[in-house]
Amino acid sequence: MPTPDPLLDPDRLAAVAELNLSNAPQQPVFEHLNQLAHELLGVPVSVVSLVTDSRQVNLSQFGVIDDHVSHHEVPLSHSLCQHVARSGEALVIEDAIGHELVGHSLPVLDYDVAAYAGVPLKLDSGEVVGAMCAVDYAPRRWTPSQLMILRRLTAVASELLNQRRRLEAGALRDAVTGLPRTALFTEHVTALLAAVEPHERVVMVGIDLDGFRTVNDDLGQAGGDAVLADIGLRLEQTIHRGRRPGHVSRLSGDTFLAATVIGRSEPATRVQDDLLAAIAASPARYGTREVAVRARGASVVAPPHGTAAALVESARRAVREADPADTNPAEADAKRRRLMIRNRLWTAQSRGEFVLDYQPIYDLTTGSVSGFEALLRWHNADLGDVTPNEFIPLAEQNGSIVPIGQWVLSQALADLAHWRCKSPERDLTVSVNVAPEQLLLTKFSGQVMAALKAAGVPASALILEVTERTLGEDQPILLANLVELRKQGVRISVDDFGTGYSSLSRLATLPLDELKIDRSFIAAMQTDERQHALVATIIAMADTLGLTPVAEGIETPEQHDALTAIGCTLGQGYLIARPAPASHMQALIPADARTSQR
Ligand code: C2E
Ligand code: MG
Ligand code: MG
Repeated sequence: MPTPDPLLDPDRLAAVAELNLSNAPQQPVFEHLNQLAHELLGVPVSVVSLVTDSRQVNLSQFGVIDDHVSHHEVPLSHSLCQHVARSGEALVIEDAIGHELVGHSLPVLDYDVAAYAGVPLKLDSGEVVGAMCAVDYAPRRWTPSQLMILRRLTAVASELLNQRRRLEAGALRDAVTGLPRTALFTEHVTALLAAVEPHERVVMVGIDLDGFRTVNDDLGQAGGDAVLADIGLRLEQTIHRGRRPGHVSRLSGDTFLAATVIGRSEPATRVQDDLLAAIAASPARYGTREVAVRARGASVVAPPHGTAAALVESARRAVREADPADTNPAEADAKRRRLMIRNRLWTAQSRGEFVLDYQPIYDLTTGSVSGFEALLRWHNADLGDVTPNEFIPLAEQNGSIVPIGQWVLSQALADLAHWRCKSPERDLTVSVNVAPEQLLLTKFSGQVMAALKAAGVPASALILEVTERTLGEDQPILLANLVELRKQGVRISVDDFGTGYSSLSRLATLPLDELKIDRSFIAAMQTDERQHALVATIIAMADTLGLTPVAEGIETPEQHDALTAIGCTLGQGYLIARPAPASHMQALIPADARTSQR
């Protein structure tokens, strides 16, 4: 096994994050230290810096050319101090060219660093958080007394950082539990999010203690505090028990947040279960008293490219929703059901609880089937039938939509391959609904292409339905996925058109092929003359933009006729066919399209 990089040591990174967070009231003192190094050692450059897992952040710099260091920080590729932080030992270089460690490094090649002396900045608690260094642009000998001066200056800098940390500990950590407060926790989670691997996800669990007020009433303030500290410790130990990084914070009163990294296929609720089990394992003790503490939890999975602050907010909201105490019974039931749905979504697919229904999409003028929209159906033993309108939004919230959507895609393509094989003369398509969380994954377009290949279906037979709302989000990755998929021949459809707020000019710039007019417009066509005109306008607009209009929710013959009259050639709805299992579709595809014309 490779030895772990000391730079990535979690305690070290936590200490660096704490120091880096504060906006340095003692900055001028570091400047004096650098000034002293310049005068006493006769060097043109002196720097005091923290070394994070990816950057060298200069707390203070003397003589550094601005072009070299923007915003007081450089990536590790341009850092010599990283070697000091990594080894925890002083690094003394008299002539950098040809030096075995740094000879070919970018600071030497780009910044003309010729001589370097760096001493580690070490906290009392043992973590090496960075370095103080002196740099010369010409090779030089460092005399023992010069190195001694540098060590003394660095000792002063370290002591200043110790002081800063002690000072900040009050502000950054909760006095009752010693856990990071939200600001520091958010900083830690930012680091987790940045370091997460493609096969992993960051999960955040909110834990709320049940009826903690009675604990306070029973044991008094001090007793209540002791119980909170005990719970905080248990949560921390549980989070750190696995080998994965993790953090715990007390959000407020009796609410805690914990964040860690899990494998993509691991259920997010496992972490939550572990944390709740740690609380339930034994009663909390205060003196000779024992109190059983009960708690509730809720988990959220970080969406791709989400911020730590947004994750904290959604965990906060989720755990508040998990609180059945403050609501009426009907609302409490609804919340409990949402929680059950959330939890069961992770295992529904492996338990074979999902099936796809299909709704045929017809050519309204010829009456022949042109393709099928895949619509997900879920039956769970505890929950009964759950409609997509109920579970899809929750699956989007907790991230389970990503594996679920992947399953839908491969299943729909497999079914399509079967129908195309039976009716090779028909150019049948399948339309698959895609959630924003899927489109925000960089690898999404690759996954779609792989699924097409696995099913042996040409890209042109797949239509991906993206809601107008999703397209409204200005996300570069989403756009890149659409562009790439379309380049490969996959068609992109705007679902529920008319319910979002996309501007015409935006629609015109997006890579799109089809516009599905939301069924609310079709439903209103008959009753309202203006609605009729509106649908006609949408169809004309689709034409202008080169998009194929498709009408959703055609329920009456009048709607059907009105639509064909205004030039809408494709549509779906209960009038023609309701969604039904895949096995029913074959019967709808006559062997020869010509024989089926009306
Ligand atoms: P959608 O994509 O707009 O799908 C059309 C919905 O309209 C379907 O509801 C369909 O059963 C319903 N529908 C079709 N014809 C008629 C009609 O004539 N009258 C009426 N009143 N309704 C009609 P469903 O199956 O309940 O799906 C609801 C939504 O759930 C879908 O709306 C889609 O946004 C989402 N959804 C379904 N399956 C998936 C999926 O696999 N992935 C994702 N991300 N979303 C899905
Ligand atoms: Mg759809
Ligand atoms: Mg729709």
